[in-house]
Amino acid sequence: MKPAAFEYVRPASLNEALQALARHGSAGKILAGGQSLVPMMNLRFARPEVVIDINRLPGLDHIRVANGMLAIGALARHSALHDSPLVALHCPLMSEAYRHVAHKPIRNRGTLGGNLSHADPASEMPAVLLAVNAKLGMQSTRGVRELAADDFFQSQLQTALAADELLTEIRIPAAAPTQGWAFEEESTRKGDFAMAAVAVTLDISAGICRQVAIAVAGMGARAVRLGAVEAGLAGKPLDDAAITRAALQAWQTVTPDGSFHADAEFKRDLIQALAARALKRALARCK
Ligand code: FAD
Repeated sequence: MKPAAFEYVRPASLNEALQALARHGSAGKILAGGQSLVPMMNLRFARPEVVIDINRLPGLDHIRVANGMLAIGALARHSALHDSPLVALHCPLMSEAYRHVAHKPIRNRGTLGGNLSHADPASEMPAVLLAVNAKLGMQSTRGVRELAADDFFQSQLQTALAADELLTEIRIPAAAPTQGWAFEEESTRKGDFAMAAVAVTLDISAGICRQVAIAVAGMGARAVRLGAVEAGLAGKPLDDAAITRAALQAWQTVTPDGSFHADAEFKRDLIQALAARALKRALARCK
């Protein structure tokens, strides 16, 4: 199928892009890597009157570290992040999760900003950003604002972005060298979206769990943190028995929708198995 007719604009600067968004409002759509938008347009699920192509905007594809934060421009391509030594050092959870994201040609075009703005509930990166307490920076002609990942993702394909806002930067606290992490996923084929996925970060001191974050994807309308499971682990010794209890609690907590490839019960079983696996691997990596 082919998309409905649309007007195409290619702003030359961030300012021009924000002006275009302000001018066209909900009739306009940002085109980043196009790996989600173009299929949606071809299937006529999306019918923007104006496509605002930001692919060649300068200065929005950076990956840098400053003041203890890893800062990633919204236009950074999945491939650049997958291969980045800075990401591997300061957000190793993201590097590990990228092994599950799509295939090379898609990773070469797709951007982190596009992925997050699309907000697919089975996507890996929203769960990663929740587990590392990331902040998302947005801009419009009205000004700039920043939201915690938990406030950014709202529901299936829905974020807190207003129609005239551009996601510009993702900011992630650099991982402490002592931190453990693990990303576990089950999908129908390698590179497919997750049937179920678990992202974990963990800090242990003298055998006691000082910090733990557990985020899941594929379990409902959006990626979520399992706050009750985290609370059950924090401040206590983390051993095999505690991990088994936490994984069972994860099974009890999630309320997934069934899908064509996995019914709800199977997805809950997956989360239990993946949570146990992720917690064990994260624990083994703690220093
Ligand atoms: P686009 O498609 O250009 O845009 C997506 C949406 O975000 C649009 O609504 C657009 O208007 C909006 N948008 C884009 N950038 C911004 C911005 N900076 N500010 C505000 N709004 C913006 N993803 C996964 O996570 N896991 C997978 O396993 C996976 N497998 C895939 C397999 C296939 C075959 C395909 C085609 C895609 C797959 N994807 C997967 C999706 C891929 O990650 C996309 O690249 C991503 O979801 C969208 O990024 P994009 O840059 O292509 O955005």
